Amino acid sequence: MSLHKDLIDRDRKVTFHASTHLRDFAHGDAPGRVITGGQGITIVDKDGREFIDGFAGLYCVNIGYGRTEVAEAIYRQALELSYYHTYVGHANEPQIELSEKILALAGPGMSKIYYGLGGSDANETQLKIVRYYNNVLGRPQKKKVISRQRGYHGSGLATGSLTGLKAFHDQFDLPLAGILHTEAPYYYHRAAEQQGMSEREFSKHCAAKLEELILAEGPDTVAAFIGEPVLGTGGIVPPPEGYWEAIQAVLAKYDVLLIADEVVCGFGRIGADFGSHHYGIKPDLITVAKGMTSAYQPLSGVIVGDRVWKVLEQGTGEYGPIGHGWTYSGHALGCAAALANLEIIEREGLTANAAETGAYLQQAMTRAFGDHPIVGNVRGVGMLAALEFSADPARRRHFDPALKVGARIAAAALDENLIARAMPQGDILGFAPPLITTRDQVDEIVDRACRAVDRVTDELVREGAIRGVGATVA
Ligand SMILES: *Cc1c(COP(=O)(O)O)cnc(C)c1O
Repeated sequence: MSLHKDLIDRDRKVTFHASTHLRDFAHGDAPGRVITGGQGITIVDKDGREFIDGFAGLYCVNIGYGRTEVAEAIYRQALELSYYHTYVGHANEPQIELSEKILALAGPGMSKIYYGLGGSDANETQLKIVRYYNNVLGRPQKKKVISRQRGYHGSGLATGSLTGLKAFHDQFDLPLAGILHTEAPYYYHRAAEQQGMSEREFSKHCAAKLEELILAEGPDTVAAFIGEPVLGTGGIVPPPEGYWEAIQAVLAKYDVLLIADEVVCGFGRIGADFGSHHYGIKPDLITVAKGMTSAYQPLSGVIVGDRVWKVLEQGTGEYGPIGHGWTYSGHALGCAAALANLEIIEREGLTANAAETGAYLQQAMTRAFGDHPIVGNVRGVGMLAALEFSADPARRRHFDPALKVGARIAAAALDENLIARAMPQGDILGFAPPLITTRDQVDEIVDRACRAVDRVTDELVREGAIRGVGATVA
């Protein structure tokens, strides 16, 4: 019980929290917590209890907590100019400098960046760009967008439609018309269901499913494909070998634009500046957010490639200034925070650390959980990792969802003062520690995770949900 129950009770009366059981929280049946500070990879709550944040907030606080350099950069900019709009060619200096920096990181072929505040609004911009592009090109019927099952692209009406997770559609009458979903690159389960495909074969199968969908809909109606280089919220699933190569061949064949949603992967998380660089993806459009400011300010962006940019210019030549704008696009405080954040990433070599310490994280996870009786799959890349739990790893059998194994293990981890995230669909525990995490800290994260998984395993044995260690129920 919190020492600050009064404060939490005040919150229960007044706040509608994201992704929360609204009734249980409002009526005191689900726990609350007030976070008051953080330093490095640790956060602290109002009771003074410290947690290792093994998920960097929501995979966004990449430089860790308490970085005074960023606070000072925001403060200095606020003293000069907090805000002026960026409509009709108005600019501020941090925004100009940040655009140059991001385009340099993104590499050749990228032309301009449009700013927003979060990943959802950035993907909303992407959808508008895709429509405008095809209207200018005189192809008004080419408008459908294909996403993947288990993809995550936001939680608005259109972006929640792109998201391929049940909880984001049910009761909201989504997905909207014109947004379709294809096979997820989820080798562990889907290849098992397809019986013993190799990764490469499964990648070909995913590409074939995509082609089948494009042909069924009519290639002249399909405008764009959106995907995260590594599936994030859908379960932290790196693509199987050859996946992006196979997918891009299909998109090129039918003149379908590729949007890389780099909201999680961008700015170092998997050990490259962008996930696209790591996997050889050549996107037409890129979405960035989370890691761009390490969440010290809200900021997102749409990076527009040359091919699309030319058409946007052509369009405004024909129709006048583009009818798209957010009040806070290019917000000076967000851009100042992003510059300070990117400078820290560069100065401290955090992208390289994500590659090196990330590789260590993957090894440590595999060593600790590779043969664990309730762990079916250990996967990840760079500073992204996941454990997928199974009632019978040899047969890749799911637990009964009513057992809530993933959520119980996340709760047990919290008892060990470790934050790891129960991913929303399936019994999957996700890890995305800040990019400053050291090897010793990885060891501590894995030790705490082990104690949590073992404890829930013991409970499951006692409940008769599984047999003793090593011999699970068939
Ligand atoms: C978090 C996320 C988004 C949405 O970002 P918000 O800032 O929550 O709107 C979009 N795409 C991906 C890949 C994400 O992980």
